[in-house]
Amino acid sequence: MTPQQVCVQCDEAITNPICTRCLGQEMEAWMRERDESLLPRIELTTMSFAAYTHEVTRCILCGKRMSVCAHCVVEEAADALGREEVAEELREQFSY
Ligand SMILES: [Zn+2]
Ligand SMILES: [Zn+2]
Repeated sequence: MTPQQVCVQCDEAITNPICTRCLGQEMEAWMRERDESLLPRIELTTMSFAAYTHEVTRCILCGKRMSVCAHCVVEEAADALGREEVAEELREQFSY
């Protein structure tokens, strides 16, 4: 493993590389069913992460370069919701 294959946010190795965009789409689909009013918060979070990329790790779904682990993205999205019970469900649903 090269040193670059770590998450730029938490410094942990990215063992399950799913990029922010792919994960964002899944979270948005889930949130549309759960509570549509919170959808913009998910979108904002995934957009804010989309700028992070580096040269090594590629998403297993779309092949695009990525640098933030799925865990960090889910945590950030959960925090951004401002609704603890929905945040818990999100963490359970996307526990990477
Ligand atoms: Zn991370
Ligand atoms: Zn992807």
